[in-house]
Amino acid sequence: MATIGILALQGDFAAHAGAIRRAGGRPMEVRTAAELAAVDGLIIPGGESTTMLKLMDYYGMFEPLREFGRDKPVFGTCAGAILLATEVMNPSQASLALLDMAVERNAYGRQLDSRVAMLSGHQLGGDEELEAVFIRAPIIRRVGDGGVILASYQSTPVLVDFGRHLVATFHPELSADQRVHSLFLEKVRP
Ligand code: GLN
Repeated sequence: MATIGILALQGDFAAHAGAIRRAGGRPMEVRTAAELAAVDGLIIPGGESTTMLKLMDYYGMFEPLREFGRDKPVFGTCAGAILLATEVMNPSQASLALLDMAVERNAYGRQLDSRVAMLSGHQLGGDEELEAVFIRAPIIRRVGDGGVILASYQSTPVLVDFGRHLVATFHPELSADQRVHSLFLEKVRP
């Protein structure tokens, strides 16, 4: 069984553990480089990307995370997606820069402008619509080579497959549907 690390510096890491268990993986909270070395794939959860960046720096996790992503699968949701993008706007900030895409933070407006959308026309398999919970979400403004758009909302990509890696601008861990976590598990080999 694959061990899926969940970066637990800040944000909604706890909900991902349940989603990974339901999809058939073994979750493990990751806060140190030693813990990171023990996992087969990593989820960077939603939260506040600026705060997470500061904590990564404080705990010496920035470089270990970059190195991990060079050969192991990483799944970023919401703030996690921001941290993986090569280009961050509104405002611009540092990132792990593992995925060639541009994201605009808080692009749907303020805190109250969070929403649940039912997505159709996705590439996840099955006819059922995909529930997407957006919380102060970013918008992906550009997807570089190697990115395959699996789901869109209001004509912008919200779930993108980058081969080894995966990003979602919404929070699949807050929905009962486990297709997105299952897709990530398929990328991870123990
Ligand atoms: N607004 C947050 C940020 O810019 C992301 C929100 C989330 O992860 N739900 O970092």
